[in-house]
Amino acid sequence: MEKQDILSMTLPELRAAVQEMGEPSYRAEQICRWLHRKKVESFGEMLDIPNKLRGQLDAEFCIKSLFVARKLASCRDDTVKYLYRLSDGEHVETVLMHYRHGWRLCISTQVGCKMGCRFCASTIAGYVRSLTPSEMLLQIYETERQAGVEISGLVLMGIGEPMDNFDNVMRFLELLSDPEGRGMSLRHVTLSTCGLVPQIRALADRKTGLTLAVSLHSPTDEGRDRIMPVNRRYPLAVLMEACRYYFQMTGRRVTYEYAVMEGENDSRAEARALARLLKGQQAHVNLIPVNSVKERSYHATRQAAQRFLQLLEAEGVHATVRRTLGSDIEAACGQLRHEAGRG
Ligand code: SAH
Repeated sequence: MEKQDILSMTLPELRAAVQEMGEPSYRAEQICRWLHRKKVESFGEMLDIPNKLRGQLDAEFCIKSLFVARKLASCRDDTVKYLYRLSDGEHVETVLMHYRHGWRLCISTQVGCKMGCRFCASTIAGYVRSLTPSEMLLQIYETERQAGVEISGLVLMGIGEPMDNFDNVMRFLELLSDPEGRGMSLRHVTLSTCGLVPQIRALADRKTGLTLAVSLHSPTDEGRDRIMPVNRRYPLAVLMEACRYYFQMTGRRVTYEYAVMEGENDSRAEARALARLLKGQQAHVNLIPVNSVKERSYHATRQAAQRFLQLLEAEGVHATVRRTLGSDIEAACGQLRHEAGRG
């Protein structure tokens, strides 16, 4: 029988498990601290756990780990990109970035992606599988170990669509924020989605306090249909309604991601349409010059993004051009995994 992945278990589940082994439930808190604070890789290292229980744990559970397959450090800034190998031989990418307030990590939530956005490298080789909660946590723990830093902010913007792996992502967030474990406030977490409406609503109902980023990339159904297949399922009107609901339930302003693609979505008419679309909403637009992917023809310079920013400002939209970090190491989503020929 395959051993159970203990890093994906919540504290109440751990309590139930140790009680079943005839141990007091406070052992679960101790184990949780070893796993999520001290980040041990074996049960033998859990010094305040009795030998007998360590043996029982070892017989039933395993502590998963990730392996660094490749590591690329930027020469232009402090960005480091890791290609991690998972226990079944699949690969995902994780990007460590330095910000004013500390270190921020961009993690993957799936191996590949089903969403099919035209400009995105993660989608080219299709979808393999969703990540488990432990595989998401381990991207944080292993990167901290590798880089010798403490990560204070997290973005779910790597490979995959987090809302298409909803249950595992919710469990991951529960583990991440548990005060007996890592204890990270979800205020320091941003989850990015291409716009899966039922899950946006379900997330709003949970009132987790995290920031929701919605990948918009076009202010019209016609334009969005062209580059993001998800728009045919959830067109802009229902997406905007869900975003307003998110704000209403959580009081958190929604961020809109907009990858500027020259000649595709950066005209004055599009700036006006975007202003109309967001009118009356507490919203912020993040502009990113699209990262060119070999197989696709989209491109943009930083100047193009600046020009579109000015058009938006003239329409009264709150927007900024996001800093591009690690551009020399292909820090855009999915490019490393894809180019390593493993995708
Ligand atoms: N699936 C989620 C999260 C992963 S993608 C989502 O769609 O939001 C993270 C962000 O990178 C999204 O805003 C996505 O649209 C954007 N992105 C993908 N490919 C890009 C590219 N080539 N250039 C710029 N941004 C890109």
